[in-house]
Amino acid sequence: MNLNIQDTFNKELPADKTIENSRRQVLDACFSFVEPKKTTNPKLIHASKEMIEAIGLTEENATSEDFLKVFTGNKILENTHPYAMCYGGHQFGNWAGQLGDGRAINLTEVVHKNQRWAIQLKGSGETPYSRTADGLAVLRSSIREYLCSEAMFHLGVPTTRALSLSLSGDDVLRDVMYNGNPAYEKGAIVSRLAPSFIRFGNFEILAARKQHLILKQLADYTIKHFYPEITSEGKQKYLDFLVEVRNKTIDMIVHWQRVGFVHGVMNTDNMSILGLTIDYGPYGWLEGYDFGWTPNTTDAQHKRYRYGNQSQIGLWNLFKLANALYPLIEEVKPLQNILDEYSDIYNEKYQEMMKSKIGLFTDDENDKELIGRLEETLQLSETDMTIFFRNLSNISIEDSFNNTFEKIKGSFYAIDEIKGDIKNHWKDWFNRYFKRLQQENFSDKKRKEKMDLINPKYVLRNYMAQLAIDDANKGDYKLIDTLYQLLKKPYSEQPEYEKWFAKRPDWARHKVGCSMLSCSS
Ligand code: AMP
Ligand code: MG
Repeated sequence: MNLNIQDTFNKELPADKTIENSRRQVLDACFSFVEPKKTTNPKLIHASKEMIEAIGLTEENATSEDFLKVFTGNKILENTHPYAMCYGGHQFGNWAGQLGDGRAINLTEVVHKNQRWAIQLKGSGETPYSRTADGLAVLRSSIREYLCSEAMFHLGVPTTRALSLSLSGDDVLRDVMYNGNPAYEKGAIVSRLAPSFIRFGNFEILAARKQHLILKQLADYTIKHFYPEITSEGKQKYLDFLVEVRNKTIDMIVHWQRVGFVHGVMNTDNMSILGLTIDYGPYGWLEGYDFGWTPNTTDAQHKRYRYGNQSQIGLWNLFKLANALYPLIEEVKPLQNILDEYSDIYNEKYQEMMKSKIGLFTDDENDKELIGRLEETLQLSETDMTIFFRNLSNISIEDSFNNTFEKIKGSFYAIDEIKGDIKNHWKDWFNRYFKRLQQENFSDKKRKEKMDLINPKYVLRNYMAQLAIDDANKGDYKLIDTLYQLLKKPYSEQPEYEKWFAKRPDWARHKVGCSMLSCSS
């Protein structure tokens, strides 16, 4: 296996001087060297042809014994020095101290076609950051990460990627709903890729410990490798850095809102410094359009990470990052200014995005109101987000309300609720919408083409992932591949997959894994 290995993180930043793999606070370092745990009986379930090629390997490589061994942690590549990163984080609003890669191990970095990829195994055993946990991952959550990160990429959402999904051959004990019913599940390992896996929390832990020199080293490292466009110096350099991270974070969240993705656990340790969607845990996809929805049962009470709150949390998390960078700037005002601009930038991008979802590409002073009314109307009765927006592109500017209604009614979960007041709200909205459409310069056909590139037909509905998991637990991995192939072209009509363009089936409404996810993974 011929990889162009070019490590930087573990060469340019300070390493933990202790080599022993024991659970502890790791001071004065950005990472600890640690080797993945050997597994009993590794077996490759799926590998991404695209990502195999992205790191400079061939499909033939991917069928080799070496590939299996390396990407399940059973063999260390020559000239590589695997490590776990040290980071902290605010979890559910509270400072949680040191967290770190408790079950992720970075193997190495490779450069291929001018693109840097850090390669990380998730679920490959304990590290100094594992605290009381086992460093392992179960098959169900590994399938969810593997499929979703690739689906997100093909939707055009910034994200970490996935290279391979394997069984470890070892069983893992988990109490899925944290209700005193632990059971053994199959252990699995995902190998995942990103230019870097650095999080807000990597900076926070150093600031919390007042390790300002290392903090500066980490910021300089990040800027040098991942924000080379920043050429300013001194304090301005770190301010420009925060501006860039803010903008990337906004872009990412606007994309989440566009496709109906709810991350579920937007703690600062799960915020990528590159603005990538990272750590696919108790995430979910909106079925009924609902600002208040969160898939994460751990968050059921306060719904901090609900769909309608993701942008606010993005800002909250940036505040924590700004605090962490403060020692490099030592002035509150310019930091504050950068954060103060967040809401205006976000709102502008969000409006643009929502307008494009309904096929509006020119400006009108009433657009904000039109969008607001749509958001309200969508929530009057449970309405499938994906189906509604996808089918909206089928309407013609000549349509009567009845014709239009025929075209979108498949998105309502309870069609008998769409009468009286609710129906009048829809009539009123479509009335305004049709008037507004007259101002656009596109034919029905052209508008549909444009809208269909923004409103996906296929997303990884919660129950779809669960069906793949149920099969996989019985040793049948076909559905993983089917969904993987389907989600490569989320905006295309794929008649052979039409059955996946459907509302959530009723059995999935309250099923664990479909609408209720916990952090247990
Ligand atoms: P998460 O909620 O998955 O983002 O995880 C939060 C923290 O817990 C991170 O530091 C993880 O590395 C750690 N963690 C989660 N699950 C495990 C596990 N099974 N073993 C060790 N550490 C874990
Ligand atoms: Mg995490």
